Amino acid sequence: MKDISTKLVNAGKDEALQVIDTINPPLHRASTVLFDSYADMLKANKGEYEGIDYGTCGLGAQKAFEAAMVELEGAYGCKSFQSGIAAIAMVLMAYTKQSDHILICDNVYGPTRHFCDGFLAKYGVETEYLPSDAGAGVVDYIRENTKLLFMESPGSNTFEIQDISAITEVCRTKSVVTVIDNTWATPLYFNPFEHGIDVSIQSCTKYITGHSDILLGTVSTNEQSWDTFNKCCGLFEVYAAQEDCYQGLRGLRTLKVRLKAHEQAALEVAKWLANHEMVESVIHPALESHPQHDLWERYFKGSSGLFAFTLKEQYEDIDHSPFVDNLELFGLGYSWGGYKSLITGGKFRRTNHFGYEGKTLFRLNIGLEDVEDLKVDLKQGLEQLKG
Ligand SMILES: *Cc1c(COP(=O)(O)O)cnc(C)c1O
Repeated sequence: MKDISTKLVNAGKDEALQVIDTINPPLHRASTVLFDSYADMLKANKGEYEGIDYGTCGLGAQKAFEAAMVELEGAYGCKSFQSGIAAIAMVLMAYTKQSDHILICDNVYGPTRHFCDGFLAKYGVETEYLPSDAGAGVVDYIRENTKLLFMESPGSNTFEIQDISAITEVCRTKSVVTVIDNTWATPLYFNPFEHGIDVSIQSCTKYITGHSDILLGTVSTNEQSWDTFNKCCGLFEVYAAQEDCYQGLRGLRTLKVRLKAHEQAALEVAKWLANHEMVESVIHPALESHPQHDLWERYFKGSSGLFAFTLKEQYEDIDHSPFVDNLELFGLGYSWGGYKSLITGGKFRRTNHFGYEGKTLFRLNIGLEDVEDLKVDLKQGLEQLKG
C-alpha cells in the first residue's frame, strides 16, 4: 500500500490517459512532456528527438491549428503567436540583422510601423516606407542590404492595394524576403503563396476567431523561408496559448459562412452609403469606384466586411460626436472581424494617392446584424450632423 502523499501525486492518472475520441483536439496543460524511454531523452538532449519534448514546442491544440493553417494556405510551416502584432514582430526580427535595410508599404497597420521605428531602429535596421500602391517600381528602392519587403493589401485603414506579383517577381531576383499581412482577405480570399510571397501573416484576432474575445496571430512560410523563421521562434519560445489555438481552429470551421455573410452585408451597406447625400466617398476595394478596383479583381476572390467612408466638405470640419455617439448598433472601438458592427474614426494623416490625406475617415466593421437595421442606424446617426 502506497502512502497518501504518493497517492495524491499519482491518483487518477490511468483514467486520464485513456484516449477519448472527440471531434475537436484535447487541451493539454503541460510544461513537462514525459519521454517513453531514457534513449529518447538522450536524443532530445542532442536536439535529435522527433517528437514533442516540452510544452514550449506546442501541444495538441497548437499543433492542430497550425497544421490546419498550413493546409489552408498551402504553406510549408506555421507558428501561432499570442497576438497578430507578436506574429509581425517575430517575422521582422527573424529576417533582419544589424545594418540591414527593409521596405514597408506605407499603409501598414500602425503598430507594425511602431515596431520598425521603435524597436528595429534601435538594433541598426533601417526602415524605408514604400508608396501604398507599390508595384514593379519597388526595384528602385532595393539596395545591396535590403532584406525584406512587407506588404498589407488592402491596407486595413485606407484600402490601398499593392501589385503583389509584380513585387514578388522583383524581390525574388534580388533575394529579398516578401511578407504580407493578409488579415483583411484571410486565406479564403487571397492566397499569398500562389503569388510568390514567402511569408504570410494573419491576425486571427479578426475573422478567424471572429468573436472579439481572442488575441491570436499566425505566421506561415514557404519551404525556403521556414528554417530561418523556425530557428528564431525557438530562441524566443513565444507562442499562443492552448485555449486560443483551440478557438482559432474552431473559428476556421465556420469561417466560410461567416465571411460570406460579412462580405454581402458590407457590400450592401457600402453601396447604400455611396448614394447617401452626405457621403463623399466610400473606400471599398470591391466597388468600381475604388481607384484600384482592377487590381483587387485580379488578386482577390472576395471582399471582407471592413471598409471606410468620408463625408462631404460641409461635414468635414465639424464635431462628429453627435453621429458616432448616437449610433446604437455600431460599437465604438478598435479591431474588427467580429460578429458585432464597429466604427472607428479620425483624421487620416499618412501619404495617400487617392486624395484622402488630411480627411476624416470613418471605418466600419460590418458584423452579422440585419443589414436594414444597420442602415437605419447609420441614417439616424448621420442626421444628427445636420445643424
Ligand atoms: C489587428 C491587426 C493586426 C494585429 O493583430 P492583434 O492580434 O490585434 O495584435 C495586424 N494587422 C492588421 C491588418 C490588423 O488589423
